[in-house]
Amino acid sequence: MNDKDTYRMHTKVIQIGDRKIGGGNPIAIQSMTNTKTEDVKATVEQILRLEKAGCEIIRCTVPTLEAAAAIREIKKQIHIPLVADIHFDYRMALAAIENGADKIRINPGNIGSTERVKAVVDAAKERNIPIRVGVNSGSLEKPLIEKYGGVTAEGIVESALDKVHMIEDLGYDNLVISIKSSDVLMCVKAHELLAGKTVYPLHVGITESGTVNSGNIKSAIGLSLILSQGIGDTIRVSLTGDPVEEIKSAKLILRTLGLRKGGIEVVSCPTCGRTQINLIDLATRVEKLVEDYPLDIKVAVMGCVVNGPGEAKEADLGVAGGIGEGLLIKRGEIIKKLPEDQLLPALKEELDHWS
Ligand code: SF4
Repeated sequence: MNDKDTYRMHTKVIQIGDRKIGGGNPIAIQSMTNTKTEDVKATVEQILRLEKAGCEIIRCTVPTLEAAAAIREIKKQIHIPLVADIHFDYRMALAAIENGADKIRINPGNIGSTERVKAVVDAAKERNIPIRVGVNSGSLEKPLIEKYGGVTAEGIVESALDKVHMIEDLGYDNLVISIKSSDVLMCVKAHELLAGKTVYPLHVGITESGTVNSGNIKSAIGLSLILSQGIGDTIRVSLTGDPVEEIKSAKLILRTLGLRKGGIEVVSCPTCGRTQINLIDLATRVEKLVEDYPLDIKVAVMGCVVNGPGEAKEADLGVAGGIGEGLLIKRGEIIKKLPEDQLLPALKEELDHWS
């Protein structure tokens, strides 16, 4: 399948605040705050950190009317579209819309009667804000569990499409769909099934994927299998941890799949018996250093001066460690020999020069 034929080229374009998703627009990176939404100051602080890291759409939970009211204040102080996450209480959805949410995420299955869903749909329609229809494997309806003999990809897809049809029947098609499962392969299969059955953009994520380490691995596997089939218009890496880590991981996944350009890629050697420097510390510091540079280059961090320069050949810039000293390398050429403590400042100087 070439790029032109991918599902994501043909999904409906949906506008969330000033951001467009679907129809071949760049895959948007999302995250979710883990502050109390009612705490405007803490929530804004976190969103600004997420924005700086590269978050493009933010979701906040709205469990109370106070949280819904906070959305109005939060929105004044942030620069990316805000999605209100609603569970169970349709009045929170109405209040979030009233207070300027750019999109709402609901599971119509847990909102209650059709009248309540209609009230939410009418309010969204009035302001023309999209509704994300979210279905999780954990909340799959009993009849679908029985029909498919358990929680299955087929059941998740049928559940999501039922909800979508319900909203379409209410006269609204400004929709995004998300289907989630913590079972990575079930999640992949569900996306494969769903992509051929809908034109709405898909928000892709592996839910409850775990702490930073296991979450990153599960998300990278799941998202890669889905995205590389041309499916997915917006993504979230869910981690139990600082949401800024979600953004870093999402960017790396997209870059690795060739679905996004920009940002410095740091490559470092795995270390071996020849390593002559505290490479783990150096690589960590280099990773931190490059975060603020808007360059689209590769920086290598190598553990020895014997093989390091050769192995760093494909990088634009590199450092290789020796005993108490190291090398600064530019496109495979050694340009400076420096004391170990001068390596990082020299790399910074070079990056400043390139910016
Ligand atoms: S660059 Fe040097 S230290 Fe790093 S893995 Fe290769 S040989 Fe080992």
